Amino acid sequence: MLVESIVRKTLGLKRHCVERVRDEKGKLAVYLSLDKRCKLICSGCHERASGYDRLSVRRWKHVPLWGIPVELVYAPRRVECRECGVKVEEILWAHGKSPLSIFLSVVLATWAKLVAWQVVGRVFGFHWNTVRKAVRDLVEYGLKHRDLTGVACIGIDEISRRKGHVYHTQVYDLTTPRLLWSGEDRKSETLEKFFKELGKRIRDTVDAVCCDMWAPYIEVIKKRFPNALLVFDKFHIVRHLMEAVDTVRKEEARKLKDKGIELLKDTKYIWLKNPWNLTDNQRVRFSELEKVNLKTHRAYLLKEAFRKFWDYISPAWAHKYLCHRFWWATHSRLEPMRDFVWMIREHQEEILNYFHMRITNATVEGLNNKAKVISHRAYGYRTAETFKLALYHGLGNLPEPQLAHRFL
Ligand SMILES: [Zn+2]
Repeated sequence: MLVESIVRKTLGLKRHCVERVRDEKGKLAVYLSLDKRCKLICSGCHERASGYDRLSVRRWKHVPLWGIPVELVYAPRRVECRECGVKVEEILWAHGKSPLSIFLSVVLATWAKLVAWQVVGRVFGFHWNTVRKAVRDLVEYGLKHRDLTGVACIGIDEISRRKGHVYHTQVYDLTTPRLLWSGEDRKSETLEKFFKELGKRIRDTVDAVCCDMWAPYIEVIKKRFPNALLVFDKFHIVRHLMEAVDTVRKEEARKLKDKGIELLKDTKYIWLKNPWNLTDNQRVRFSELEKVNLKTHRAYLLKEAFRKFWDYISPAWAHKYLCHRFWWATHSRLEPMRDFVWMIREHQEEILNYFHMRITNATVEGLNNKAKVISHRAYGYRTAETFKLALYHGLGNLPEPQLAHRFL
């Protein structure tokens, strides 16, 4: 019968055959059995093994055929393996205890990368939770089969879930680039957890770690990756500098406003943007503001001067430059700028490490933006577990079982 041969071909059956296909209340139930001519394979070591007993019948949801739900029905055998003991036989369409065939998981999870999980469910006629299981199956497979050899640079950053109320620590492989690990919170314990799960496998190959000046992370990185160069991320440093300039502006604007002067109103981005990105209007406004002796302008000049810092080739010259700016800022009578340079001084060694190895979290920024898109598609990412699944799925660059791609 045609349906049977379609099922046989698409499943790529080797040791099993389609016994019959039955219409069960509008659902196609495909009954499978063991091909008597074939030897059983152990799911533990993938070697031949002799039969032990038979388990009760299991059902797997499978890829719908022209909109008709399909289920695979089979009673798995157990084998007695010389290596692994009593194990379930290897079943090509199954993934662990998942109630979905691996083919269905691939189809649903592939779509789930493109559109909201809710939509995938609606299109294929499954509950949202089934889509979640599909993604989980694929992520589990991917994490188990991914290659972690040669991870040389990692970047650590955080993203927020639920509008900034919950943080997730993200560890990225900066070379590939891909998400290596994600965990709820941003404490030192969070990073310890990462180390416990992955650290031993990558400890010897990682030679640089890039992150923000975040004390709980620093402590763990220094302890767990003692041989890696710790580099503080340029973009985070720039962001701190921007925040300092903006604090100066806000304070000054408030004081001026008290005197009835609205000089600094709506000027935030004039001070923060790169000068060459200003619009014509902003440029005109800026040339007016420049003439007034403003604290914000002085802070702005320090910010602009700092741009040169990153162009240095030699760490020694970069250091000299920092000392000079330090003096300047501490005498500027601008408190936020003073705080900024003090922070730089405290972390000077790791900031100057940038001139030994020019790594930044620039790629992380791109991945974090993608992560935000993922979290905006946030139907039901209420739990950290589901959010993590979505992140690994979207950013992990995980390997997928190849055999299932004939359905895509
Ligand atoms: Zn075995």
